[in-house]
Amino acid sequence: MRTVSVFGATGSVGESAFDLLIRAGGPATYRTVALTGGRNIRRLAEMAKALRAEIAVTAHAELLPDLREALAGTGTEVAAGAEAIAEAAERPADWNLSAIVGAAGLPPGLRVLRRGGMLALANKETLVAAGPLVRRTAREGQATILPVDSEHSAIFQCLIEADLETVERVTITASGGAFRDWPLERLARATVAEASCHPNWDMGQRITIDSASMFNKALEVIEAHELFGIGLDRLKVVVHPQSIIHAMVTHRDGATIAHLGPPDMRHAIGFALNWPSRAALPVAKLDLASIGSLTFAEPDETRWPALRLAREVIAAGGAAGAVFNAAKEQALDDFIAGRIRFPDMAAAVEHALSVAAGQPGFAQSPESLEDVLAWDALARMNAAEWKGAA
Ligand code: NAD
Ligand code: MG
Repeated sequence: MRTVSVFGATGSVGESAFDLLIRAGGPATYRTVALTGGRNIRRLAEMAKALRAEIAVTAHAELLPDLREALAGTGTEVAAGAEAIAEAAERPADWNLSAIVGAAGLPPGLRVLRRGGMLALANKETLVAAGPLVRRTAREGQATILPVDSEHSAIFQCLIEADLETVERVTITASGGAFRDWPLERLARATVAEASCHPNWDMGQRITIDSASMFNKALEVIEAHELFGIGLDRLKVVVHPQSIIHAMVTHRDGATIAHLGPPDMRHAIGFALNWPSRAALPVAKLDLASIGSLTFAEPDETRWPALRLAREVIAAGGAAGAVFNAAKEQALDDFIAGRIRFPDMAAAVEHALSVAAGQPGFAQSPESLEDVLAWDALARMNAAEWKGAA
């Protein structure tokens, strides 16, 4: 029987994965090793019971008694804290979904790779913050990374049996998020609630706001660069408001292979779960006639400066990814808390990048988790210090 672990089980991606596991027969089909979550103890316990998980872990030490009580008598072990999540990742499981949000997803992901597990990666921050370290760890552990971010799953699928040498361009699509059509001058007044609505995808709040600012797409450009080894000259973003085409690969002979599907993460998660075969999935099938038209536009970098920053991060290499990711997380925290305005997020990230660029060692890629975390802490501090021009 195949064994699975889900890190970030109670989030949006985690819920979609849970749905797939249950529909596939739950404990009759998969043996669940670890499930981890945050503050939603009730949901974590429900999931652990339904899947008969070996261990359930909450990120919060103070919630351990609640989790213990919720799972008393079930046979599921309980634990709490960041180190307990990382330790749970060391338990052997064939398939491991990384669906924690933010840089907190990196430590368990590295543990999975070190033991040679298959890492289904939704947590894009892992590759943005520590791409070279993650790839090296995967190589040394003889581990496999399968993309779960929808655009990267799409690229992966377009590249099956393709020759990277003949690929001239990889294009990922962006819906444009909540503020695609807003007048630019209104962005400074955008509220957290307004930024937390996505036109097509139902996702966690952080990635939804990152879609409005295009920081999500910026992270994805870096993620594509790290995953597929594609240079900046071959990576393109196009705005596609319907989110039906997820990515396209253009070959030198003029053929473009595109991946299309309704915006439902269960496709990308289910593809990774069943890879290399294609199982039946509970996803609506595409009906182009009912959609009518698909439209495209060049992204406007005045509206979305995050895309320019992504190019600068790739060009800089070294610690730039770790700094970019952490500064973005801090700026997002600050926007959600009402400390800065929506457009200030890009300015705060740019500030943190320029301060870090003056530090010794910036040009070297972080070689250990500790190195990544040191750049991460510095970047958060500098992004938080940014006060703006006003
Ligand atoms: P979410 O906020 O809905 O869920 C996050 C999960 O991580 C929850 O289980 C939460 O309890 C847990 N978590 C949060 N902080 C944690 C911490 N410090 N330590 C341990 N666990 C923690 O997020 P989401 O939208 O499901 O996104 C998860 C990841 O997948 C992100 O990296 C996101 O960019 C990526 N992703 C999401 C989608 C989507 O459709 N939601 C699509 C593509 C990629
Ligand atoms: Mg995506």
